[in-house]
Amino acid sequence: MKVGIPKGLLYYKYYPFIETFLKELGAYVVVSDDTNKAILNEGVKYAVDEACLPIKVFHGHVASLRGRCELIIVPRIMCIRDREYICPKFCGLPEMVKNSITEMPMITELPLYINSEKSLYNWFRKLGFMITDNIFSIDTAYISALNAQKKFKSGIKDEGYKTNIVLLGHPYNLYDNFINMNLVEKLHKFGVGVITEEFVEENYIDEEVNRLFKRPFWSFARNSYGAAAYLHSQDKIDGIIYVSSFSCGIDSVVVELIKDRIKDFPMLVLKIDEQTGEAGINTRLEAFIDMIDRRNIVEDNLPAHG
Ligand code: SF4
Repeated sequence: MKVGIPKGLLYYKYYPFIETFLKELGAYVVVSDDTNKAILNEGVKYAVDEACLPIKVFHGHVASLRGRCELIIVPRIMCIRDREYICPKFCGLPEMVKNSITEMPMITELPLYINSEKSLYNWFRKLGFMITDNIFSIDTAYISALNAQKKFKSGIKDEGYKTNIVLLGHPYNLYDNFINMNLVEKLHKFGVGVITEEFVEENYIDEEVNRLFKRPFWSFARNSYGAAAYLHSQDKIDGIIYVSSFSCGIDSVVVELIKDRIKDFPMLVLKIDEQTGEAGINTRLEAFIDMIDRRNIVEDNLPAHG
């Protein structure tokens, strides 16, 4: 069976799992291309206008796989951590895709609770039965997929830069270089090192979110807020850059929470949608880094107390 995997949304977090599982089962796996202008245009054409950029891009990836496979993985991810939720757009993704894109092959539709071992296994078992009726092969492929995912570490932690920022936002905005217009490369060219939330230990993130008057129930908000608050409190960064999707409710809340916590510490929010121009991003980045450099010079020259 030819199975298509759209290179969008949480593909960047979980591709070792899904690719290993399908390949071990003998499926012919077709991964869509890196996001490009044609994929974006298709996404904008098919997705509803109100959708955020990553959802539009995902539609573009799905559209690009039509005619090349018999089944497309459209994961209905409900939850990735206990007692937390993920964006409702993930929960309704199969409906959005089916109702917007014409001439679709089969897609996966069952809900996926990544936080529950039993639910995760059952989801993959059902997917496996679409490819083979050999339960032994399905279980073996599942164990290989678990191992491949365990070995995989996503995130960025640069060393050796004088100026360092924490780069925050959803993984599909940070690791899709077309969406973010090669942001990390641009920062490196400016001599700025990057750290992402994956390199902040879970217990530090928990400590920070537990101090809030109400614990965020969105996993994305928890991670971004916790990482920003911890790194800021440790004096480990010179600034914060948040890549935010235009019209994302979760981003609007978490940006305000972070601003409230860090007060006048440098923070740049880059809001992106399909209209965002690269020149504007470059100018804002340059101005932000310039501001950080001047701030550091002033702080280095402050008279020592005591
Ligand atoms: S969390 Fe925000 S950016 Fe991500 S899919 Fe939902 S609305 Fe879009």
